[in-house]
Amino acid sequence: MAKFVLIGSGLAGGLLAAYLGRRGYDVDLYERRADPREGNIVGGRSINLAISNRGIHALEQLGMADEALHHAIPMRGRMIHDKSGALHFSPYDVDPKNCINSIGRSALNTAVIKAAQRYPNVRVYFNHKCTDVDLDSATAHLETSFGAAGSPQDESVRMADGSPANSENRIISAHGDAVIGVDGAFSAVRQSMQMQISGFEYDESYLAHGYKELTIPPGSGGSWQMEKHALHIWPRKSFMMIALPNPDGSFTCTLFWEFEGPRSFAATKTDQDILQFFHDEFPDAIPLMPTLLEDFRQNPTGSLVTIRCAPWHYREKVCILGDAAHAVVPFYGQGMNAAFEDCVVLDECLERFPDNRERAFSEYFSRRKPNTDALADLAISNFIEMRDKTASKMFRAKKKLDHLLEAALPGIYLPLYTMVTFTRIPYAQAARRAQRQDRVLYLTLIAAGIIIVSLLVHLITR
Ligand SMILES: Cc1cc2nc3c(=O)[nH]c(=O)nc-3n(C[C@H](O)[C@H](O)[C@H](O)COP(=O)(O)OP(=O)(O)OC[C@H]3O[C@@H](n4cnc5c(N)ncnc54)[C@H](O)[C@@H]3O)c2cc1C
Repeated sequence: MAKFVLIGSGLAGGLLAAYLGRRGYDVDLYERRADPREGNIVGGRSINLAISNRGIHALEQLGMADEALHHAIPMRGRMIHDKSGALHFSPYDVDPKNCINSIGRSALNTAVIKAAQRYPNVRVYFNHKCTDVDLDSATAHLETSFGAAGSPQDESVRMADGSPANSENRIISAHGDAVIGVDGAFSAVRQSMQMQISGFEYDESYLAHGYKELTIPPGSGGSWQMEKHALHIWPRKSFMMIALPNPDGSFTCTLFWEFEGPRSFAATKTDQDILQFFHDEFPDAIPLMPTLLEDFRQNPTGSLVTIRCAPWHYREKVCILGDAAHAVVPFYGQGMNAAFEDCVVLDECLERFPDNRERAFSEYFSRRKPNTDALADLAISNFIEMRDKTASKMFRAKKKLDHLLEAALPGIYLPLYTMVTFTRIPYAQAARRAQRQDRVLYLTLIAAGIIIVSLLVHLITR
């Protein structure tokens, strides 16, 4: 069986290792961080995230959904907080069983790595940072801290000059039949592809907004201080805060705000500035956030990037998956879900072309690329919807109309959010179908308006 070298044991890396392990491949998975089971994973990334149908389906295929979702908290809809503190709940779907689920990043990462390690043909090495990949020989070069738990003593792991790795070495090379980069938005594997593939297409764009995580701690006895089964949103037109529940009764809040400008992260310098901003914009949250000032000062401000590139593979030798291939902004809650869906599709392609890995990689790329491009656009539009439109009565009325039509025309009318979140309809197809539905809906409303006005005119002038 072929040997795969995987770079990055984040959410998608762990899951992909499990898929490849199940298929009988030899897998060496290298991760630059320490073992997440040693409590060292988050490093400024979101503490919790929303998993929905696509991600759950990928876990189910490995029989690990129940275990992974054990502590997840279903969120049935959006809880909108307006400035007066008034709350409006808007369910995600007409079917109350359709929820998104708040899950801890660290717990999920641990679950996928454990699932991979159940296969004896999968080995995981922490504290190994890939510096670059030689595409033609499918060899990854890695910097490592030997002596760290999980360092490879395996024969297959050799120094760049071919000698076995030993405790004095700091750079090793790992060779496989193929290297797969699952090393996130700032992928070293993708960078090597950029440098070594002529005509490699690459585009990255950053939002003018950054994000900062803040905390609402548990109430007395570990209770939740706000509605537990909702994703909370404080929409404020050009910016917003959201909060997702955690199993210990706390909520992780994320403030998405401009980096620069008169009111921005950059302009907020003193404790007084922070308090004034929260007092003006999120007054109902202040009493729930006793560590607001410490959180605001200590937690990093992250950036939000969209990455598009092509191709996603080099012959049968190197491939990229997850954020490494298509990082998207987080406003549709789909980045990880899409990365998990990549694993399912790549697995299907390897099954379909067992003796032609180049064909399998190429099929995977052509099936996924139009869909992740569509998701990138959807995710940016959803930022505008969440931060601005969710506050309006029109938005709530449109959601109600969507749900009425979905109930009245089952299988015919499906709102875009439902298709993206609660089905596995490919993202590009969902986006096209939603556009068609909207056109028909607006034309029907215009036609109905014209008929009503004509009838009224007819009645008045009779
Ligand atoms: C604020 C925020 C909120 C989000 N919320 C959601 C959500 O609700 N739902 C959702 O579906 N998605 C969400 N996402 C997106 C989601 O986090 C990503 O899409 C997902 O983590 C991608 O998984 P990945 O395995 O491709 O990359 P990552 O999770 O980034 O994993 C990459 C791994 O590779 C390792 N690595 C990196 N470089 C190297 C190297 N050189 N050598 C070795 N190892 C390396 C990293 O340490 C890491 O472990 C959110 C993202 C953000 C920023």
